[in-house]
Amino acid sequence: MRNIAIVGAGQSGLQLGLGLLAKGYAVTLVTNRSADEVRGGRVMSSQCMFDAALTTERELGIDFWRNDCPPVEGIGLNVCNPQVQGESLFSWSAELAKPAQSVDQRLKMPVWMETFVERGGELLLEDVGIEALERLTATFDLVLLAAGKGEVVKCFERDAERSAFATPQRSLALTYVHGMQPAEPYSRVAFNLIPGVGEYFVFPALTLSGPCEIMVFEGIPGGPMDCWQAATTPAQHLQMSLDIVSRYAPWEAERCQHVELTDEQGYLAGRFAPTIRKPVMTLPSGRQVFGMADALVVNDPITGQGSNNAAKCSKVYLEAILLRGQQPFDSAWMHDTFELYWSYARHVVAWTNSLLQPPEPHMLQLLAAAASSPQLASTIVNGFDDPRRFNPWWFDASESLALIEATARAA
Ligand SMILES: Cc1cc2nc3c(=O)[nH]c(=O)nc-3n(C[C@H](O)[C@H](O)[C@H](O)COP(=O)(O)OP(=O)(O)OC[C@H]3O[C@@H](n4cnc5c(N)ncnc54)[C@H](O)[C@@H]3O)c2cc1C
Repeated sequence: MRNIAIVGAGQSGLQLGLGLLAKGYAVTLVTNRSADEVRGGRVMSSQCMFDAALTTERELGIDFWRNDCPPVEGIGLNVCNPQVQGESLFSWSAELAKPAQSVDQRLKMPVWMETFVERGGELLLEDVGIEALERLTATFDLVLLAAGKGEVVKCFERDAERSAFATPQRSLALTYVHGMQPAEPYSRVAFNLIPGVGEYFVFPALTLSGPCEIMVFEGIPGGPMDCWQAATTPAQHLQMSLDIVSRYAPWEAERCQHVELTDEQGYLAGRFAPTIRKPVMTLPSGRQVFGMADALVVNDPITGQGSNNAAKCSKVYLEAILLRGQQPFDSAWMHDTFELYWSYARHVVAWTNSLLQPPEPHMLQLLAAAASSPQLASTIVNGFDDPRRFNPWWFDASESLALIEATARAA
């Protein structure tokens, strides 16, 4: 039996661990926070997952919240007028072919950790550094590092060619609330693009205390939405969230008249640089560690893809491990397996990065055209489930125009 160690009990590490257990592998998961610490801690993400990623969870029978989690049935876009604060230039929305869902990681990860142990996995609590990685690689056939944005992932070399940015591109904040009026006539990610300021989006989710809405703020560094350091209490964070929404997206503020934080830990502020890292870490001993998901490819949350990527990465890695049979998990296999994942993830990275910069004219034209073309709106919205679909028309002006014309003709 092959003996596999995974460091990190997040979306990718736990999903891969549970997948390997189901195939009869011996799996040890080492993580630095217990189930109780995760459950009682701060929110970490807005973790909206689209159908293709949810399907990878369904395949493993670990979609425990499918009936309780409110569905996200569509995506809407509101582009604000750069000249007049609080005024909309145009807006549209379209339904997703299949709903998305967001289950608070504070709810999901502890249950997955408990399931992992019930299904025969070994779960260890340790903050892993180089010394522990040396120990693990001496004992296990394969050691995967799925530590997300943990400090230890910086031991993977940054891939300067594939990384577009060296600094954070957005100041991020999350506010989990109860009491928001639902979007009509279907639930959605209500995305507001505020030129020169940033983005605000909001959608339904399931948290520890039941259904909620997650408000996500993406402030351009140095701009008016890069303000969270001034909020030092949960109440101040909520008030700041509401003030921003009233100022820049008053149509969303109407939904917020009776909101309250879901709990004292239902908020977050921070920033990080989107980064791509090389997949294999060689330890002082010469033994190797293989990275996965955010440890190697970390995107800004503007397109809500990180958990989706983590789920898809775990599926690619699971299949590659199974296919490897009894052969060694050597460096060549690690590079090939990562490239297989990268052949998907590079599309997500290119599309996400394009949204962090001022939009090119053809992108704005495309978004504006969707206001009068339900078919085009639907094409854009359903790209979130598999961002490879944005290629080439999102990036190429002539392809973009061709798509606008084709959808107009079809209408
Ligand atoms: C503000 C914000 C909003 C987001 N919104 C979305 C969204 O709407 N949709 C979406 O798909 N994604 C979203 N994401 C991204 C998503 O949450 C992550 O991409 C995803 O959780 C990554 O999964 P992972 O398994 O790579 O890492 P994680 O889920 O971060 O798991 C890492 C694990 O490693 C452990 N760990 C870290 N360091 C160590 C160490 N030294 N030793 C042992 N264990 C360690 C951690 O405790 C954790 O258990 C968002 C992220 C942020 C910050």
